[in-house]
Amino acid sequence: MKRASFSLAGVVLAAQLSVCGPAADSTWLTTYERSGFLRTGRYDETIAYCKRLAGASPLAKFISFGVSARGRDLPLMILSQDRTFEPAQARQKGKAVILIQSGIHAGEIDGKDASQRLMREIVITGSLRSLLDHAVLLFIPIFNVDGHERFGPYNRINQNGPAETGWRVTAQNLNLNRDFMKADAPEMRAFLTLFNRWLPDLSIDCHVTDGIDFQYDVTYTMELGPNIDRGVSAWLSGAFLPKTLHAVEASGHKVFTYVFPREDHDLAKGLSGGAAPPRFSTGYAALQNRPALLIETHMLKAYRTRVEATYHFLRGAIGSVGADVGALTRVLAAADSEVVRRGRHTDGESSVPLNFGLGPGSRMTEFLAIRSVQVKSELSGGERTVYTGEPDRVMIPFYDQITIADSVRVPFAYILSPEWEFAPRILKLHGLSIRRLARPLTLEVESYRFTDAQWQTRPFEGRHGVTYRAVPLTESRTYPRGSVIVSCDQRAANVAVHLFEPESRDSFVAWGFFDAIFEQKEYAEPYVMEKVGREMLERDSSLRREYRQKVETDTVFAARADSRLNWLYLRSPWGDPWLGKYPVGRIVTSSAFLAAQDAAR
Ligand SMILES: [Zn+2]
Repeated sequence: MKRASFSLAGVVLAAQLSVCGPAADSTWLTTYERSGFLRTGRYDETIAYCKRLAGASPLAKFISFGVSARGRDLPLMILSQDRTFEPAQARQKGKAVILIQSGIHAGEIDGKDASQRLMREIVITGSLRSLLDHAVLLFIPIFNVDGHERFGPYNRINQNGPAETGWRVTAQNLNLNRDFMKADAPEMRAFLTLFNRWLPDLSIDCHVTDGIDFQYDVTYTMELGPNIDRGVSAWLSGAFLPKTLHAVEASGHKVFTYVFPREDHDLAKGLSGGAAPPRFSTGYAALQNRPALLIETHMLKAYRTRVEATYHFLRGAIGSVGADVGALTRVLAAADSEVVRRGRHTDGESSVPLNFGLGPGSRMTEFLAIRSVQVKSELSGGERTVYTGEPDRVMIPFYDQITIADSVRVPFAYILSPEWEFAPRILKLHGLSIRRLARPLTLEVESYRFTDAQWQTRPFEGRHGVTYRAVPLTESRTYPRGSVIVSCDQRAANVAVHLFEPESRDSFVAWGFFDAIFEQKEYAEPYVMEKVGREMLERDSSLRREYRQKVETDTVFAARADSRLNWLYLRSPWGDPWLGKYPVGRIVTSSAFLAAQDAAR
């Protein structure tokens, strides 16, 4: 569906010049503005525009913060009132750091055109220069640059403009907004390095929705539940959001929380929210004790409407941070200290939530819907939703009680042998510091043995994720020299917990980084095992009972001679004790932690 109408270029130009103000001329208009708000500029145009802004103003600096899979520079604009272009300086001067990222899904590019206007009004016309009074602004105008240059009119079937746009995923067919933890994409690795260098007090991720039709131009979400520090959440709910949403509404754009209908074709059943896992931008920032704002303009609104809604959201958000920067800085520092303090705990009771659900409770909420009817579709043979275009103000239940489904006690540290070389590399990207054992160390650890492992049959994000049952165990292990120790008394410890705890769906093991531990590498020949097995059962009455019970209760097992013999082989002295056992250890006693620190270099 395309709803954009054509405007006369001359009228548009005049309108934009008045926006630009006396200090700017029409050469500062972007491709978007020159096209009557119907088109968006290409990568080269965007880079040229950013470089020109930086060349014309001492308030702006253009850099590349990394390189894409196809070798394109990843653009970053830094805007500062007094050439504070380094994170340490920004902190020293009490400035908030705000990161505005657009085009993580390059087809949803509203944020780029909104950002270009905003940057111009800050550094060229000066009408919004005061936004730099309390903040250093980082703009990534296009994050997924390779996806952006897969440019064409057929990339977003649901979306009403621009005329041509980029593609959702990277050249490697990876969705960057699922990659925040595993960091498979070079673009994400560059982003995480940037993020952890600057540690933005607020980051903003600009998108366009798919999903149902409604009256709102724009929806948003922030993590406010048990997956983020309580003080940060309180500041967002009490100070930041009311002010920011008021600014969006005052600009004439209807705004609502980013929600999903509980049942696709029946709005009366209500809406649901939820907590984002850390593979997503907002869930990731929450693990880092940092707020992140997700902006989702509505796909069916005209491109100009969406860009303007994004522009006012960005402007409002920067203003809200600026109005209360002292309080924000304090709650973030308190959240960081709390994580560090918890890692030095002695009570063994501090826990980190890993997975979330939704409670049964709801509250009635006014929702500005578009009326729809269900009719029979001859094409699909099913029902189809027809939106009539009539606005409909409804009161419906909103289910947003986020509950904790799984949590885990925080250990003093995690320890991992050095052959798993991906781990230190990725931990570093997340801002985690590690130490290494200078000599072998035997210590007691908690860990897990995995059973019932099942792999996804189809790939997801280039990986075949694995599900399992993680059975806890405690044992003495010897970790070799060079083993990696990750203490939990550091600021980013929540990220380490989610990467190492198997119950987290974004853990290394769940994403398949540890798949090799599930492979059996030695086998017994049946005619050899027959004799050994008989002797084992004769000798050991409890093994005999276990074996008989397995044969009696598991018919698939009972019917397979090789499975039965292999079951015995794995329990024989020749079986591999490390098969399906997690090489990561949780150091949970202070004596083991002291020993590890002592043995570390
Ligand atoms: Zn998106």
